[in-house]
Amino acid sequence: MNALAATNRNFRHAAKLLGLDSKLEKSLLIPFREIKVECTIPKDDGTLASYVGFRVQHDNARGPMKGGIRYHPEVDPDEVNALAQLMTWKTAVANIPYGGAKGGIGCVPGELSSSELERLTRVFTQKIHDLIGIHTDVPAPDMGTNSQQTMAWILDEYSKFHGHSPAIVTGKPIDLGGSLGREAATGRGVLFAAEALLSEYGKPISGQRFVIQGFGNVGSWAARLISEEGGKVVAVSDVTGAIKNKDGLDIPKLLEHVVKNRGIKGFDGGDALDAKSLLVEDCDVLIPAALGGVINKENANDIRAKFIVEAANHPTDPEADEILSKKGVHIVPDIYANAGGVTVSYFEWVQNIQGFMWDENKVNNELKTYMTRAFKDLKSMCKSHNCDLRMGAFTLGVNRVARATLLRGWEA
Ligand code: GLU
Repeated sequence: MNALAATNRNFRHAAKLLGLDSKLEKSLLIPFREIKVECTIPKDDGTLASYVGFRVQHDNARGPMKGGIRYHPEVDPDEVNALAQLMTWKTAVANIPYGGAKGGIGCVPGELSSSELERLTRVFTQKIHDLIGIHTDVPAPDMGTNSQQTMAWILDEYSKFHGHSPAIVTGKPIDLGGSLGREAATGRGVLFAAEALLSEYGKPISGQRFVIQGFGNVGSWAARLISEEGGKVVAVSDVTGAIKNKDGLDIPKLLEHVVKNRGIKGFDGGDALDAKSLLVEDCDVLIPAALGGVINKENANDIRAKFIVEAANHPTDPEADEILSKKGVHIVPDIYANAGGVTVSYFEWVQNIQGFMWDENKVNNELKTYMTRAFKDLKSMCKSHNCDLRMGAFTLGVNRVARATLLRGWEA
């Protein structure tokens, strides 16, 4: 099932549980605005290359729209729409005063030089600069984009049109007004989400066996923080390969290896395994932290984890959801589990607007407060609607957006 069909299905299910009026349901589903722009750049060899860039602004009832920009070959209108909608529910679940948006460019970032990526980012920013804004739509990093460079170029390009505007992007370098703790925030939020779920069953992180798919920013920070808490990371994968060690991988050593070798391939602290079988490895907690749709009806029956914490966006297909629920697997859904990134993005935006920088402890403590509160809120929706954690999160998010929409009214 494609990402948009899956997201719409989850939304409709939540709308039904909430008893939303059908006109309100329709209005919440249709995006506020969809932007599609042509981005042509000269390549380093002098030839021209054209790419298509998207920004979907899904909803702004609760505040400025918020969400990352993704550079990936699979970026297409449906995927960006689905991800923008997920951001609307995610910011509402986290209870931060934002709506949802997402952007992306269909490209293979690894095949572009740094100067080509810079030109592409600047052209994209030129094309959308008058449709984003500090109180309108605030981008951030996502797959294939990063704090250090991409966000700095967007900030610089936007500021040429609108004056120095640090709050126009979050997840930017500290030297340009970024927040301490933002780089680790999504992974730290995943740790808090895993802690919240496991504590429901009287289990600590320590001693549990984790499998993590994806070792980029989110997966690697989650692995680091989980192993610091005494969790055993028994298998991980990235685009270069997969590795397992039933006694637990040495994560600090693996991180060093990844920096030196640009991937986990060749790490000698475990046995190589094929990337597909990683998801069905024996473990307590499975953390998909890469692409969407990886847990589907083909592999759901073979999953051996008892708990899944969705660090990626929409990693589990609704068909797999049904199979896993019958097997008694508990899933912490993406719109809660990976909300740590956008929550610290909110703290970054607040710091930029206040012109006052927080220390890292304050950022991490506030993040814990927001994640803990959101878990309590979503659990109470599970109770009142007699539903699983995914529908608990969806009903929580959709209900908050619906209430804000109704309060604002429809007068033209
Ligand atoms: N790209 C991240 C996400 O999917 C972060 C978005 C943000 O910080 O605005 O949640």
